[in-house]
Amino acid sequence: MAIPPTHAPAERPLTSEFDLLRVPGVGRFLKWRHSRTVLQIPLLLISIIMILQGLFGPTLAPKNLATVLSWVHFRGALVLVLLCAGNFFCLACPFMLVRNAARRFFKPWMNWPRVLRNKWASIGLFVGILFLYELFGLWNSPWWTAWLIVGYFVAALVIDGVFKHATFCKFVCPIGQFNFVASTVSPLEVKVRDRDVCVHCHTKDCIRGRRNRPTRPDFVVLQRGCELALFQELKVGNMDCTFCLDCVHACPHDNVGILGGVPAAELMTDPMRSGIGLFSRRTDIAALAMVFCFGALVNAFGMVSPANVVEKWLGAVLHVQAQAPVLGAIFVFFLIVEPVVLLGLAAWLTKSLHGSSRAMLPLVVRYSYALAPLGFGMWLAHYGFHFFSGFYTFIPVAQNAVASLGWPILGTPAWRLTGIPARFIQPMELGFLLLGVAGSLLVAFRLAEEDSPGKVMRAFVPWASVSLIIWLASVWLMYQPMEMRAMLMGG
Ligand code: SF4
Ligand code: SF4
Repeated sequence: MAIPPTHAPAERPLTSEFDLLRVPGVGRFLKWRHSRTVLQIPLLLISIIMILQGLFGPTLAPKNLATVLSWVHFRGALVLVLLCAGNFFCLACPFMLVRNAARRFFKPWMNWPRVLRNKWASIGLFVGILFLYELFGLWNSPWWTAWLIVGYFVAALVIDGVFKHATFCKFVCPIGQFNFVASTVSPLEVKVRDRDVCVHCHTKDCIRGRRNRPTRPDFVVLQRGCELALFQELKVGNMDCTFCLDCVHACPHDNVGILGGVPAAELMTDPMRSGIGLFSRRTDIAALAMVFCFGALVNAFGMVSPANVVEKWLGAVLHVQAQAPVLGAIFVFFLIVEPVVLLGLAAWLTKSLHGSSRAMLPLVVRYSYALAPLGFGMWLAHYGFHFFSGFYTFIPVAQNAVASLGWPILGTPAWRLTGIPARFIQPMELGFLLLGVAGSLLVAFRLAEEDSPGKVMRAFVPWASVSLIIWLASVWLMYQPMEMRAMLMGG
């Protein structure tokens, strides 16, 4: 792995003194070299149970562990952990446990093609999964949910079986990309404790990996370095970091921690980032942030009753009976027309009002990152709703699953257990949306300050308007009547 040149990034987001790895108990556990495996094993076992239940268990989604755990619990837990801590799902990812086991027998031999070393393929997969989710009603199908999980395991095995490093995580996995964008708003980051120690470090094991004979060509890597090409000394923020902690274990100076920071601060600056470059030049990552935000809107739209009315109307206008073209038209509107119109208008206004010398596209790329907090707020509101309203549902479903094997050791299924009453959940959803829009406005303001000292408001107002329009749309969606599917399962 080539080491990037050693120079200080222009600016790094603020961090506090908090270091999770120095918290008694938790820190000791995370620094233990088998901690990742210990976290992955339960998730692998749960995944296997979900696959088996999905394929052979009850066909009714609210009674099947595959659908209940995937669409009610996993998604909610994922976003809440991202909000409160960081990308700990990738740390505990069961796909990587299987992939690492396979790599003991099959060594990958190819490099991922240069043309694909960006986020475009994973954006396509992310949109594809959102689309299939609606088309096949995945929330309602244990069978297809099980195959989706199997598909993930197979894809991770095949891609990382052939291609070196962490190709699947960095360039392919749609869950990973979701986590990377969301974790830019997380409060924790894997980061060096003291940059002076890195400057004087000669081995750079955090990226090279710790070797038994560092100076000889016949070395053996004892602890791999960062497979995602993030060189700690120059790493900025959480983008592309899977929290795998390989760098923590590899650093011979115990100089990598999990430090606290200001959520979203990394979106407000544009330093050179190791393994990524400048955010302002990464059209693909900006597009990912856009899809993350507008995808939240289309996903939430799919669960409310007005979606049915729109689908019927579109079917009549397009003269089609099939759902795919109608859904396709809705996705084109939400993921292409709406962003192009809103962001295009904002960029045009920025140029007109403020006289920015930047072209339209670089302006859109620069300010798209401001949409990440709002998008995260929408995902939190949506997934949080299902998580809390169906919080206890895993109990009767698990009881039923065990009883169906002929061992009713967990007791009779308590089907009356559902979740937290809606009157407590709606204020929480509104809180998440408010948190999201506040974050987006703050990021847009800081970007405008950096871009246009002296004319801040002229650069800020167009982008603030975009955030407010999307926020109003998401609040409107929140108050719409829902289809029954959302009350039973995910939506
Ligand atoms: S993080 Fe550790 S291994 Fe990496 S450059 Fe700094 S001191 Fe060296
Ligand atoms: S090795 Fe890379 S991906 Fe893993 S925690 Fe360190 S920086 Fe993040």
